[in-house]
Amino acid sequence: MNLCNYDEIRALLGRHGFHFSKSLGQNFLIDPEVPYDIAASSLADETCGVLEIGPGIGPLTEQLAKRANKVVSIELDSALLPVLAETMASYPNVEIIHGDVLKIDLNALASDKFQGLTPIVCANLPYNITSPILAKLVETTAFETFTVLIQREVAQRICAKQGDSDGGSFSLFMQYYMETEVLFDVAPDRFLPAPKVTSSVLRCVRRKKPAVEVEDEAFFFKVMRGAFLLRRKTLCNSLASALPKVEKPHVAAALAELGLSENIRGERLTLQNFADLAKILAPYQ
Ligand code: SAM
Repeated sequence: MNLCNYDEIRALLGRHGFHFSKSLGQNFLIDPEVPYDIAASSLADETCGVLEIGPGIGPLTEQLAKRANKVVSIELDSALLPVLAETMASYPNVEIIHGDVLKIDLNALASDKFQGLTPIVCANLPYNITSPILAKLVETTAFETFTVLIQREVAQRICAKQGDSDGGSFSLFMQYYMETEVLFDVAPDRFLPAPKVTSSVLRCVRRKKPAVEVEDEAFFFKVMRGAFLLRRKTLCNSLASALPKVEKPHVAAALAELGLSENIRGERLTLQNFADLAKILAPYQ
């Protein structure tokens, strides 16, 4: 069966009485080249165990199963389980888990399911929960690499050059732990139903060590998040209201010490700037 053929998908879903759920971010791929290209760029091979999030009816799952040793796919929508049982029947190396990716212990899953294999992630993510999923993947140290299809705007922000106005605390968090790269775009008409925006494939590879050296990681992240708390305000105002013991003159003095303007905004700072700023402000935490 061709899992990317519009008529075949319609017939399959009709037979199973399936209705798309917007709240589950269900936009299924209908161009066979796209899952092929995503699987090809995922670095999956016979030494890999691949975690897929949200298999849908399985077009990407199938391409991953052809390349990897094992594929474990987590799907939240129980209505898709009988569909997947049918479409994945001829792939014995695919295991479907019914559950919410945000509630599953992924390190435990990786050591349980991918023993002796290199665990990686490849998925067409539900767009409404892209950031929490990416944050969870970053914190799941078992996975060195993840290749995900997400909204182009989000992918571009994650890869924004540090000090660029496109960035934010989430981009910096991602870049602190991962090397990030946008691989290619996917147009809205490659999906059923078509989303409103263009998508991009983002690849993240875990750094051997974080991008900058930081003494107190918890405080460093507090400073970074605090800098972006009040989006339209200067970093000075934002940090002073985010951190109870830090006052505006402390931040102004720290910025002056770093040769940065008192009126600078958070998005203009690099990871190194934040590491330096956190070090200077550490006595006020
Ligand atoms: N992989 C399929 C494809 O490319 O055609 C479907 C991708 S669709 C964008 C996202 C999928 O994620 C849907 O199948 C949806 O039901 C599933 N999903 C949504 N939230 C989820 C969650 N919290 N945990 C696991 N799967 C989820």
